[in-house]
Amino acid sequence: MGRPHVVMLSIPGQGHINPMLELAQILHSRGFFITFVTRAQRESILRSQGPDALRRDSRISDTRQSDGCSVARFADPESHVVRWCLMTYENCAAPFKDLLVRLNSLRGGAEGHLRRVALDVAEELSIRSFVFMTMSACGFICSLYLDEVIRRDDNNLTMDTPIDFIPGLKDIRPRDLPSFVRTADQEDFIFKLAQNAAKKSVGAKNLLLNTFDLLEDEVLNALKSKFQKVYTVGPLASHNTTTPTKPMRLSLWKEEDRGYTEWLNQQRPSSVIYVNFGSIITITTEELVEFAWGLANSNHPFLWVIRHDLVCGRSAVLPKDFLDKTKERSYILSWCSQDEVISHKSIGGFLSHCGWNSTLESINSGVPMICWPRFDDQNMNARYVCKEWGFGIEIDEDVKRGQVTSKVKELMEGEKGDEIRKNVVYWRERAKKAATQGGSSYENINELIEDINLV
Ligand code: UDP
Repeated sequence: MGRPHVVMLSIPGQGHINPMLELAQILHSRGFFITFVTRAQRESILRSQGPDALRRDSRISDTRQSDGCSVARFADPESHVVRWCLMTYENCAAPFKDLLVRLNSLRGGAEGHLRRVALDVAEELSIRSFVFMTMSACGFICSLYLDEVIRRDDNNLTMDTPIDFIPGLKDIRPRDLPSFVRTADQEDFIFKLAQNAAKKSVGAKNLLLNTFDLLEDEVLNALKSKFQKVYTVGPLASHNTTTPTKPMRLSLWKEEDRGYTEWLNQQRPSSVIYVNFGSIITITTEELVEFAWGLANSNHPFLWVIRHDLVCGRSAVLPKDFLDKTKERSYILSWCSQDEVISHKSIGGFLSHCGWNSTLESINSGVPMICWPRFDDQNMNARYVCKEWGFGIEIDEDVKRGQVTSKVKELMEGEKGDEIRKNVVYWRERAKKAATQGGSSYENINELIEDINLV
């Protein structure tokens, strides 16, 4: 018998591809042959329908709001990543099925957002399938209670009313719910997608989550009652794969500038604030300027990643006097290898949008966070980081330079900062333990492998 074969299908977003590849790497190191399917679908759409194909989808323009800056308010629908993702939902079933038919002797695996497509195809072809949700368990469980949120959404529900009807979640408010749950518009494309996918996923037998038992124990217990089997296998990046030791990456952005390693090497240990809002969210010019002056006035060195499409609708222009004032203690670039940056000894804090991968990367590196969540599960992650796990502090949604400065100082200089730092080190050690032999995530990977091999 040949090597067992796993086909992995990922939506073409950076925050989905990275953990899927980490899982692929672990399975590969344990003897599996892997076929990884992602952005190729986009290329085939472009080839078959021409370069304008991705612009013609009517639902995409339907989801735009007057500020021109929304799928669920904070991601730009014109951003190529969002467009690839939306097109993938609609177009990948047939080519994916063709691929599966062409490949023999396989076990299926699909990233969570594509479960609707992948599960149907896998079922049709009698292939064992596993759904991998790349968001936090505390974010994911909310999508299972969308109907309940709608039912209870009356005039008495404010953004701060305590919510007690989602099992496993502690001390949360409507403002902490994922953006697709909070949207008032039930016709919103993402809302409907989340609703359909949640319904479908409850029918799925096998759910994989990039988290570990101790971190999200109560919410995981609640999820376990809804699925036949839940494998908590995270943080995937903490597992020791035999070869290669560096995580495999398939970056959707080009690193145009690698000079940051040299710059980081020159900084004092734990002295630098690292600022990165991930691969999808967009911000306004006003917000950009508030962050800029907030960082400048903190007097701490910082490394700031500003994607070419970070500022909605235009290119980012930083004030000249800000650039002059900070040129001796800043490094600004458009994309970096975040796993390398965040684990560099000079990094002392991470100002982040709290994407789930960024949150796990903070834990893995023992770097505390300043949270500025916007979209999807980020609000819930930030709530847990600050209230439950104690390794972050939050900046208000309506960001102001004074608060950015005071939060940076609080994290880098104050006693609160020391306490937060201790907490993140606590979680780093627990994460490592979970992913080493005898730990919950390590053993769950073993179980997953056994289950994949059952025919
Ligand atoms: N990332 C990176 N370089 C960057 C920005 C992001 O390597 O400049 C990686 C980051 O390490 C993480 C992923 O992209 O693994 C982003 O995922 P996350 O869930 O944090 O946020 P999203 O981009 O999905 O909002």
